[in-house]
Amino acid sequence: MIKTKKYIREQLAPLYPPMEVEGLIRIILEQVTGFSPLQMHLNQTEPLPESKIMQITEIVNRLCKSEPIQYILGETEFYGLKFNVSPGVLIPRAETEELVDWIVKEEAGCKSLLDIGTGSGCIPISIAKNTSMERIEGWDISEEALTIARANANRNDARVQFSNQDIFNPTGIDEHKEWEVIVSNPPYVLKEESALMEKNVLDFEPHLALFVPDEDPLLFYRVIAKFAKVHLPPHGKLYFEINERMGEQTSALLRELGFYEILTRKDLQGKVRMIRGRKAEIGQS
Ligand code: GLN
Repeated sequence: MIKTKKYIREQLAPLYPPMEVEGLIRIILEQVTGFSPLQMHLNQTEPLPESKIMQITEIVNRLCKSEPIQYILGETEFYGLKFNVSPGVLIPRAETEELVDWIVKEEAGCKSLLDIGTGSGCIPISIAKNTSMERIEGWDISEEALTIARANANRNDARVQFSNQDIFNPTGIDEHKEWEVIVSNPPYVLKEESALMEKNVLDFEPHLALFVPDEDPLLFYRVIAKFAKVHLPPHGKLYFEINERMGEQTSALLRELGFYEILTRKDLQGKVRMIRGRKAEIGQS
């Protein structure tokens, strides 16, 4: 195993920072050997069988082409739970865990929630597992994402109803239907920002979930907030993950649409990454 570790380290060193390389070595060996950390330690000096070395070589080759480890392994961890991921959905991010945590702490007493643009389903599933909400729904326009989201709900034994909906044209939704909380992590990366993005994101993650046109960065926020004005009860809450450059503009948009108690929050990296607002009483703005 020592030789294998050295091989992985040498291959990945030109591409990934040293700390990340060590993390990848641990993840790859855990996955391929199935060993616990103790077994790993006890077997350190044992060579690995040829079949395992072949599996490792294949993973390393894919990593060398910048493919994200989460897609190679087909899964990732989010908010303490395991989620299947494939290139049809974004890889759940640490900052989205912070958004989930905000909702879990503030909205545990609520009964219903809708996540718009759910992708892997990581938001509604982790909320379902950590609150006693009775009706949780996730919408996505991508059938491929919904297949993964449903598999994730099964895998985590979570009760979430997933449906195919296009937020620009939702169908079959009664105008009186309400959710106490609406949340979304919509596409918010500008095309002009793609020059700064890592190859592993740009070449592998779904552009449908990432990008918004440069000329209208708040496109999704506007349509979702307008939907929320109709489908939240008075004082119901709307939560978003946002582009760190758009905090003020998103606050202004929510204010214009009559939301109140608008709060932004920074993520652990100090970037303005989340926003929340409450729907005013009818007629009040
Ligand atoms: N946080 C993601 C990224 O920076 C973007 C997620 C999104 O567009 N909603 O890659």
